[in-house]
Amino acid sequence: MRASENRMLPPPGDKHAYVELKPFETGQMVTSCATLVENALGTSMATSWRFLLKHSKTNTNFWFDMGISHDLSVYPPQIQNVHKHFKPKPSKTSIEQDTLSWNIPPSGIKHVIISHAHWDHLHPLPPTFTNASMIVGPGSTAHCAPGYPSKTDSKFDGRIWDSLLRSFTLRELPPVTETDAWKPLGPFPHTYDFFGDGSFYLINAPGHMLGNLAGLARVKTKAEKWKWVLLGGDCAHCSLYTYWPDAPFGKMPVELFPSGSLHECGETARETIHRIAECKRNEGSDLFVWYAHGDFLEGLWEL
Ligand SMILES: [Zn+2]
Ligand SMILES: [Zn+2]
Repeated sequence: MRASENRMLPPPGDKHAYVELKPFETGQMVTSCATLVENALGTSMATSWRFLLKHSKTNTNFWFDMGISHDLSVYPPQIQNVHKHFKPKPSKTSIEQDTLSWNIPPSGIKHVIISHAHWDHLHPLPPTFTNASMIVGPGSTAHCAPGYPSKTDSKFDGRIWDSLLRSFTLRELPPVTETDAWKPLGPFPHTYDFFGDGSFYLINAPGHMLGNLAGLARVKTKAEKWKWVLLGGDCAHCSLYTYWPDAPFGKMPVELFPSGSLHECGETARETIHRIAECKRNEGSDLFVWYAHGDFLEGLWEL
């Protein structure tokens, strides 16, 4: 058997185990395409998608990523400096309004899963999310705490990362060395079966940032076909990498991004991109790959 057949995603087991999901645009950042892919021409007008999901079997409502806040003043001063570079336009709606637009009260949100701790993916949970906990990847808290204002030059918000300042529950996933929790799936060595029924996995996706996660959702199309959606967060910053995994990374100003690219560790980020590209080659049109800053969400028309 060829490697690609060995490393395919599993067929559906329980036909009631899937998720529904709805993407929301949150604000906009204008940046040169050359910051995403080396020597690319043109200008990228990226949003930062957030995804509202519902687990079919338990009716659990949850978010994957929060995107850019509708109120840019919530961010720490060091992030306001980064805003000078990206010139973000805030989201037109708040995460509460987006929740209500799917007829879910804010108190009906159980989890807010954060792909990673960069500012354009999270902000403190609104107080109306009274039953929600924030879920983050392994090692995130040690990396981000203490945040601002305890550490005045921190890019991370103490109202999220400092237990004394936080007004909601934060749950960090266990380290990937815990093999009871993290299991291989397809080309990914460490995945966490979030509901324990194969409907939604978190993928350990190292390279972009410490604790970086992707999501993998089993969905049903309008035509009642099973598909997968891989929520790629910032594993890559445009869909081109799914099909051209060796495309050279764009260049970023080193004063904002010490590695010189958008990834903390380019080499490890490249390995993760190769796994996503392999997954796409294996699954073909049964897998849609959606990055947080992708312009098109491939296959959305089928859902
Ligand atoms: Zn990021
Ligand atoms: Zn991002």
